[in-house]
Amino acid sequence: MEVSAISKRLLRFWAIERDKPELLKAQYKAFASKIPMMYMILIVNSWALALTHIHSAPHWLSIYYPSALTLFCAIRFAVWLKSKNIDPDAEQAWRALRRTNRLVMPIALSFSIWSILLFPYGDEYAQAHVAFYMGITVISCIFCLMYLRSAALTCALIVNSIFTVFFLSSDIPTFIAAALNVVLVTAAMLVIVASHYRDFTLLIEAQVKTAALSNENSQLANLDALTQIPNRRKFFAMLDAVCDDARTRGTRFSVAIMDIDGFKSINDLYGHAHGDRLLSAVGKRLLNICDENTHLARLGGDEFALIINRNMSDQEIRAFGDQVCLALRPPFVLYNTIVKVAASLGVATFPDMAADAYTLYEHADYALYHGKRNNRGTVTLFSSADKEQIQRNANIEQALRLADFESELSVCFQPVVSIDNSSTVAFEALARWKSPMMGPISPAEFIPAAERMGIIGQLSEILFAKALRVASGWPADINLSFNLSANDLNDTDGLDRIIKTIHETDFPPHRVDFEITETATLYDLKKTEHAIRSLRQLGCGVTLDDFGTGYSSLSQLHALPLTRIKIDKSFVTEIHDNPVSYKIVKSLLALSRDMDLACVVEGVETERELAVLKELGASFVQGYLFAAPLTEAEALAWIATGRTAITH
Ligand code: C2E
Ligand code: CA
Ligand code: CA
Repeated sequence: MEVSAISKRLLRFWAIERDKPELLKAQYKAFASKIPMMYMILIVNSWALALTHIHSAPHWLSIYYPSALTLFCAIRFAVWLKSKNIDPDAEQAWRALRRTNRLVMPIALSFSIWSILLFPYGDEYAQAHVAFYMGITVISCIFCLMYLRSAALTCALIVNSIFTVFFLSSDIPTFIAAALNVVLVTAAMLVIVASHYRDFTLLIEAQVKTAALSNENSQLANLDALTQIPNRRKFFAMLDAVCDDARTRGTRFSVAIMDIDGFKSINDLYGHAHGDRLLSAVGKRLLNICDENTHLARLGGDEFALIINRNMSDQEIRAFGDQVCLALRPPFVLYNTIVKVAASLGVATFPDMAADAYTLYEHADYALYHGKRNNRGTVTLFSSADKEQIQRNANIEQALRLADFESELSVCFQPVVSIDNSSTVAFEALARWKSPMMGPISPAEFIPAAERMGIIGQLSEILFAKALRVASGWPADINLSFNLSANDLNDTDGLDRIIKTIHETDFPPHRVDFEITETATLYDLKKTEHAIRSLRQLGCGVTLDDFGTGYSSLSQLHALPLTRIKIDKSFVTEIHDNPVSYKIVKSLLALSRDMDLACVVEGVETERELAVLKELGASFVQGYLFAAPLTEAEALAWIATGRTAITH
């Protein structure tokens, strides 16, 4: 039992550990750099010994035998030198190490027997040379073989056994002493080799563990914890790689950004646990439609991304997008609740719509954002027109940066008339900008640009001062409507400046109506409410503009102290021919009455539209039918002549 345990340990000591691939590879690498040196030493040392015996020993011993050994060593030297730079797999490394293990015994025997055979031919010096050759060469070889413990041990045992037995039996005290010395040194060296080998093994094992750990860390860093799919960081890494690949191969691919319509309300209504469940379930459904060329990631919140690494036509991309939307259509069961959601997708293609990873993402996001406004629940492709619009927006922003607002901005005024007697009750101030660089630019373009740049407060202040100055010249029964942007309502300092302007011009605050859009309430309902209250306290009116186009809930709007609503022009166009618009306007008018709010209908262009609005009981209207926005002088003329409509 004990014997078998010892022999097992010995065998393990001798064996090459095939089950440790990283160790094998490291052993091979360390080994490959030392082995050529060992063969060099063998060749040089052996010829040094052969030459001192060239005249005394027969030629087969002093020339032919060492020549044969040299040839063999030279071949092995060349083989190792060639393989020094290769990166072997574990199997290759194992084979090479096993081959060395097998070759050690015949090599050690050949060299030892050769040197013993030479011994009788030399004088005392030459005999000492043999002993020295054997002792020093075996020590060098053990050093060179130290990364293959078994080979080092075999070499030491064979050479030292022959050496010790031979010299101990020589009856020459010097040689006996030398033999004992060599045995001792070799034994010490073997202990060093064993401990070095153990340290080496431990080091490699530690490296393997560290690599596994860092692999695990990078997995964690790249994986979204909730859905177990790649996260934002991984998405951008993948996108970079796919971009580089597509660039070299000259292929087209697409990036889709998707978000879940209605996710926010599910989170609000049922709580975050339900929201989390929904996201995991969405992740799973999306994974199901991915193949090896479609990479899915969660970018954060309810936003997912897909890299579709396939050369597809726009039509095929749309079909794929529809497939994604369709996959999310069946209801989700979250705990005991059944919910239905829809997905909107924005897609951009490489290289025609964007030439680098970041722009590609930005453009897909742009397509999603704009698609959500008009085509919720479907896929929107980023187009050349979008590209031009982005370029134009950039130009507008640049022109805004260089603009002198005081001289370049002006205000025009569009009358708001009473539907009963067509008298003008107010003018809406509308901003105009004539850029010296780009000519006249619509407020629908430059106002959002100023909002993005964070300079809308400056513009509002200048425009409002200009509008107030003009309005001061109007009769007391004509009010001023002024558009405020969402940012104005959320910027307390800006709002203070607007209020200060009213005080400074001495314009009666009750004659000012501020028009705000629903988007303001989406930013920060509390702040918006506070701003509206401040304006109301001053005596100003507050109108909700573009009513019916936003998404905020009625209950939220109910909480705001508004005075008026303005029904958006999109519902007025062709109202006589469009039953849906008709119904919407009818119910919005009813709603305004219920909420005790005044109501203006904007965008009235034809007599037929006006007739329908009259029939529905609207009281104030505005639109090209009466007048387009007028200049300051035109507005004064309009008032002076008591006109109720102008023709263009
Ligand atoms: P809005 O407040 O809804 O203004 C009404 C827009 O409809 C104006 O366009 C007006 O010229 C146009 N309009 C008036 N009657 C009709 C009609 O019968 N048919 C049609 N199709 N359109 C009509 P405008 O002046 O280009 O202004 C566009 C938008 O820019 C405004 O929409 C408003 O949101 C914004 N805006 C304009 N001036 C200012 C401003 O001083 N401050 C802020 N924050 N926004 C402004
Ligand atoms: Ca307006
Ligand atoms: Ca409007």
